[in-house]
Amino acid sequence: MNIYYCTFGCKVNQYETENIRQAMSGLGFSETDSPALADICVINTCTVTSSADKKLRQTVHSIKKSNPNAVIALMGCFPQAFRDAAFSLSEADIIIGASNKTKMPQYIQSYLSNRQKIRDIEPHTANEQFENMRNFISEGRTRANVKIEDGCDCYCTYCIIPYARGHVRSKPLSEIKQEIEQLARNGYKEIVLVGINLLCYGKDLNGVRLIDAIETACSVEGISRVRLSSLEPELISDDDIARMAALPKLCPQFHLSLQSGCDKTLKAMNRKYLTSEYELLVRKLRSAFPNCAVTTDIMVGFAGETEEDFLRSVEFAKRIGFAKVHIFPYSVRQGTVAAKMPNQVTKSEKMRRAKILEEAVRADRQAFLQSQTGLTEEVLFEKDDNCDFHHGYTKNYTPVRIPKKSTDASLRWQELSVRITGAEDDFCTGELV
Ligand code: SF4
Repeated sequence: MNIYYCTFGCKVNQYETENIRQAMSGLGFSETDSPALADICVINTCTVTSSADKKLRQTVHSIKKSNPNAVIALMGCFPQAFRDAAFSLSEADIIIGASNKTKMPQYIQSYLSNRQKIRDIEPHTANEQFENMRNFISEGRTRANVKIEDGCDCYCTYCIIPYARGHVRSKPLSEIKQEIEQLARNGYKEIVLVGINLLCYGKDLNGVRLIDAIETACSVEGISRVRLSSLEPELISDDDIARMAALPKLCPQFHLSLQSGCDKTLKAMNRKYLTSEYELLVRKLRSAFPNCAVTTDIMVGFAGETEEDFLRSVEFAKRIGFAKVHIFPYSVRQGTVAAKMPNQVTKSEKMRRAKILEEAVRADRQAFLQSQTGLTEEVLFEKDDNCDFHHGYTKNYTPVRIPKKSTDASLRWQELSVRITGAEDDFCTGELV
């Protein structure tokens, strides 16, 4: 039987889908990339914005329309946070939450044998344990996500994630090591440590911290790069920076979630730092990691954000000079504190602000790419099929491409020295040294 997998949202979701994929493949199921040819469609949901919910509904409806006999299995954040709304999706045969995803293979088999609809959403509990998952392969061959943390206890006022993901829980260091060792034996060179609030790693593990997990990952032979997914700025100490700087395998790319460059808005969001503290942290990271890339997320149009607050945010973003900014219009999530706040910003105004911010930070992206010109960097090549270039990434996640001759052997999965010769559009160009 063929399964089509559809993953919405973050790297944690990608990791979890991969885990189901491996389990189903072990049970003899094969995979298709076409929902129309699938016997079963597994959809790993995201509910971070209302547009993610909308996309999910559209996907379910369109699969059912094109393939009425397909079994539809939903899991993850959307059913966990909005149980009734998920249960109202009558096309779904199996619906489970975010804390019992490893049960999906068994539920699929059960549904195939008796065609009884399955609904199983376990509420999160205070002493919930890390759901035991290990992946030894990943989509693509160069980079593998390793989920080491789940949950968040921060309750930013706009965010539904703590309700969808529950409390912080962490994978023990010994298991992280074993998983990465196996990934290295399977040929992976780069791993990305992923979590819902990565810097909370170890909160439930008696004094263990993210830096311990990073050092563990870097200690694995065969792995040449360890990358971190998004980080919350308030939890990085000077000691963390000093220990990180001593790890040559750690990729100097820091995605520090900003959300707003205005202190009044940060306070309303229940973010736990001031812009001045954020700026100081960026300065420390840039001094410890020369040529690091600092990237971020910024939300526009949060409830109560005035034009003046917004312009302050734009000005702050310009002052930092991010290598890349992901811009999100604020999305009201029912059940969060911010959903009930007064002075909500209209949709058209959010769009206007998103456009202004996008324009404002575009030049900083270009300046970052231009600043790489003349440097010689190790590039891990990822793809060169059906195109005129070899594509790869430097350690600071600069996309690099070098022209490919028809006689060239593939460079995929190799890490090679490249002299960066220029920047075009959203990538750098280079030549092999
Ligand atoms: S830190 Fe804030 S934004 Fe990030 S997952 Fe937790 S509650 Fe959501």
